[in-house]
Amino acid sequence: TRSLAAMVKADTPTFSFEFFPPKDDAAAEQLWGAIRSLEKVSPSFISITYGAGGSTRDRTVRLTQRVLEETSLTPMAHLTCVGHSVGELRQVVGHYAAAGVRNILALRGDPQGGLGQPWVAHPQGLNHADELVGLIKGLGDFTVGVAAFPDGHPESRSVEDDVETLLRKEREGAEFAITQMVFDVDNYLRLRDELARRGSQLPVVPGLMPITNARQVVRMAELAGQPMPQAVIDRLERHRDDAEAVRREGLAIATEAARRMLDEGAPGIHFITMNRSSATLEVYGNL
Ligand code: FAD
Repeated sequence: TRSLAAMVKADTPTFSFEFFPPKDDAAAEQLWGAIRSLEKVSPSFISITYGAGGSTRDRTVRLTQRVLEETSLTPMAHLTCVGHSVGELRQVVGHYAAAGVRNILALRGDPQGGLGQPWVAHPQGLNHADELVGLIKGLGDFTVGVAAFPDGHPESRSVEDDVETLLRKEREGAEFAITQMVFDVDNYLRLRDELARRGSQLPVVPGLMPITNARQVVRMAELAGQPMPQAVIDRLERHRDDAEAVRREGLAIATEAARRMLDEGAPGIHFITMNRSSATLEVYGNL
């Protein structure tokens, strides 16, 4: 089996799908339906997000383990520093290792008060994702990915800050980056090119989230901590009263962005599936 780092560095683009752990049985059923139908297109890997706190966190470990045991998929588990001491972080990484999980996306996580609140590290914890990369790399033979922010991380002052952050993560051993969902392709290309200009070898895989209804426009902007580009809003607004047309336009927007990024040499596309398969499969099919 090829390592995830080798896949992302190879000439053929990777296609990967992101899921979140389900909260109850109904959500689990929907998730597994999506996993099974997306498994049919043989993605390069799938990723499982790490919750903001509490019990959702064990679910990430369990779900990743189940994907390994019951499917043909290569999973990557996310991990954040939020609310964890270094001792606890070591323990979670130990659980991943024991479950056979070799790929980890190392993140700081958002402030516990929510986006816009100041970040407060756990007193015995880590301050930034680069420290988590170093910790994980020191604990075993893991392939480690990190987050990147083409529109700028909300706490960064400039593109330069974001580039410096990624260079630090790369120095700690990160082998690739996945971006926040991209709506502005120029921003993605700018970050990627600036990194390369600074001597980085880090492949930067764009995240893509096809919008399928008007409500998501606001929700996505909240999640990203950035307003959506006006051009995207305008295209969706035109169909305001026609749900089917909004969906069609959303899928067209995602398809166009993905095509342009792949044409420009993006190493792959990472789909944020929201635990559903149809929109992702349609855009994937278009590509
Ligand atoms: P960092 O790299 O620590 O960056 C945070 C801020 O600090 C940035 O402004 C950065 O420039 C600055 N900074 C970084 N290092 C230093 C340093 N050494 N000195 C000074 N400043 C520094 N959240 C979850 O809770 N669970 C998930 O599963 C999850 N998955 C994600 C997947 C992807 C692909 C992305 C893009 C985000 C994900 N997030 C997830 C959200 C992420 O945790 C937040 O966006 C968080 O605010 C930033 O995480 P980071 O790893 O980039 O942090």
